[in-house]
Amino acid sequence: MSIYELAVKERIDHFNNKSWFVVQELESGEELVDVEISIEAQEKMLSMIEKEPDKYFTNQDFVKGFAYRLSRTNAGSAKYGPCEVCGKYADTMYMLVEMVRFWNPVKKKNSVTHHGCRSSTFGHKECLAKLTEKPQ
Ligand SMILES: [Zn+2]
Repeated sequence: MSIYELAVKERIDHFNNKSWFVVQELESGEELVDVEISIEAQEKMLSMIEKEPDKYFTNQDFVKGFAYRLSRTNAGSAKYGPCEVCGKYADTMYMLVEMVRFWNPVKKKNSVTHHGCRSSTFGHKECLAKLTEKPQ
């Protein structure tokens, strides 16, 4: 059984100034998925590979989304200053660390990096939780 390489590619329609994304099987050129959003094409490609790992693989690295770690510090605003989100006093400070999840096609598993992420944020638990709801 053959194994096929997949890749997400952007298609641009210069006449109508539109773009969209396809999951393409490189050997045949066949376009298997056709969506408007890059991350959606990536998710679809990933799920195709996860479902049929003997059939599909990719050499593309891509972002799968954000991952967060929220931890409680042992101090409040007296040590860390006001909440970095709302600017108010906090009895207990929490620290939010943002990471980006990558699909690693060589190891065929997810990996995580801090590259390109915001630095650690200190604040109320509720305020930090709101930061994790941002659209991607
Ligand atoms: Zn706050």
